[in-house]
Amino acid sequence: MIEISHISKLYGKQRALNDVSFSIKEGEIVGLLGPNGAGKSTLMKIITCYIPPTEGDATVCGHDIYDDPMAVRQCIGYLPEHNPLYLEMYVREFLRFSAGIYGLKDARDRAEEIIKHVGLTPEANKKIGQLSKGYRQRVGLAHALIHNPKVLILDEPTTGLDPNQLEEIRHLIRTVGQHKVVLLSTHIMQEVEAMCSRAIIINQGCIVSDDSMENISSQELTSKFHKLTQ
Ligand code: ADP
Ligand code: MG
Repeated sequence: MIEISHISKLYGKQRALNDVSFSIKEGEIVGLLGPNGAGKSTLMKIITCYIPPTEGDATVCGHDIYDDPMAVRQCIGYLPEHNPLYLEMYVREFLRFSAGIYGLKDARDRAEEIIKHVGLTPEANKKIGQLSKGYRQRVGLAHALIHNPKVLILDEPTTGLDPNQLEEIRHLIRTVGQHKVVLLSTHIMQEVEAMCSRAIIINQGCIVSDDSMENISSQELTSKFHKLTQ
């Protein structure tokens, strides 16, 4: 579903990614775990075709990021870091607008469906700016899911949520992830344990570990990660 092959990225002289390779199969929820500045957001922007890599290749659902970026974007739902949203728009209006962007012919019905699916029904008539952080994340997720993509790319989807909101969003991600491929980033170890079937640790632009959660104990994962952050 996602194939990353020898991706490197330089911003001027600064190397943000260094020869990154991995592949993700259907049904996996993969946590990209790394400290701030590790290169997580950069990698996600490359996979979603927002920025080009300096070197290397990637395909998503068989579509090449260079040859067919539009097809890549069609099969991806992307929740960027800091979840940029139109705060003056109403939730329902925004999601109809999102559906329209993808040219869905039943945009109104699809907006209603997704509102229900992510638990936004009580908030659907409010302005996005009036919502709590947890509900804003749901709007971001609804936007990412509107065109029913096969792949979800979520950049720090739970950062800044309070404990209740956190549990609800984690649950939602696990539920929608059952039928998709999910790549989510985080700098918090517990997030990976709570949601993911596999953990890829990234540090200073390099993959330092890649294990399925079945094969690695919580202790091992913690110690690998803590070595980087000390
Ligand atoms: P993460 O998401 O893991 O915190 P980023 O991908 O945002 O990491 O950043 C990786 C490195 O690349 C950091 O050192 C960051 O300062 C640098 N970087 C990110 N974006 C840019 C940019 N647009 N221009 C220059 N350097 C950047
Ligand atoms: Mg980031």
